[in-house]
Amino acid sequence: MRVGFVGLGVMGFPMAGHLAASGHDVVVYNRTRAKGEAWIARHRGSIASTPRDVADNADVVCTMVGNDDDVRAVVFGDDGVLATLADRALLIDHTTTSADLARELAAAHPHFVDAPVSGGQAGAENGQLTIMCGGAPADVDTARSLVDAYAKAVTHIGPTGHGQLAKMANQICIAGIVQGLAEALHLCARSNVDTRLVIEAISQGAAGSWQMTNRAATMIEGRYDFGFAVDWMVKDLGYALDQADRSGARVELTELVAAFYREVQAAGANRFDTSSLLTRLEADPIGSSSPT
Ligand code: NAP
Repeated sequence: MRVGFVGLGVMGFPMAGHLAASGHDVVVYNRTRAKGEAWIARHRGSIASTPRDVADNADVVCTMVGNDDDVRAVVFGDDGVLATLADRALLIDHTTTSADLARELAAAHPHFVDAPVSGGQAGAENGQLTIMCGGAPADVDTARSLVDAYAKAVTHIGPTGHGQLAKMANQICIAGIVQGLAEALHLCARSNVDTRLVIEAISQGAAGSWQMTNRAATMIEGRYDFGFAVDWMVKDLGYALDQADRSGARVELTELVAAFYREVQAAGANRFDTSSLLTRLEADPIGSSSPT
């Protein structure tokens, strides 16, 4: 297939690389051209000067940018993807956005799949992403045949927007688990118990989680450079909270943890990864939360 790929960031760069390695004819675009040139230096394919040129003659265009407005910026307008994308072609958006944006894109183009991903930078680089899709069954089937190049699981959740709703559920689960883990580590540290031994013991039982296995040790060491940034989490939880508001869902814990992430962001740790919730607990002077 002739595939256009817009957005060669932490995630898009390796994803587009997997498509090229699978034998597709890949055309890439990145706003900062140097990243496009770096991609071309490593992979077989070509580089376009605008999203419009990426979409010209494409069978499929994938977008992987930042937020709702960033997707609008590359899709709509004179230089946007839809200026040249053929009606028969498929548009796949991998960006984490609102479900409303997915519906806006589906209204603008006949074949659209919202396909946010989970698995982080490592998942993108190893071709092991989990992808949650919303759209018509035939379009999701076409998408699946392509995105298998960088996925270990592709699930058709439901109609347009349901991929994004699944991603919101994913982020809600991560937020709650990371805050719980941060509090457990904090309690151990303040109680002078051997934190590493506690984690070793409890990770074998019902308290165990991916976050505990992969992040507890690095949180104890104060290392927060593992890809998925606090800025992105604040954006994602914002979409989840808006959705909850409109659907009448109660997400009290998510509201609280979203506020905690905004505190971490305001403290300047916005590019730390999501396990940095522990930093706001550690910043609290000993005794400051004691009852008076
Ligand atoms: P990133 O490294 O910051 O890359 C973002 C890319 O989008 C860059 O190529 C950037 O171009 C481009 N872009 C942003 N705004 C644009 C605009 N208005 N017009 C044109 N291009 C624009 O981000 P990322 O980590 O790859 O994440 C991308 C998406 O995946 C986000 O929605 C994020 O929430 C989601 N996600 C990320 C992860 C992760 O672990 N990183 C995991 C799952 C999902 P420039 O190079 O010019 O800045």
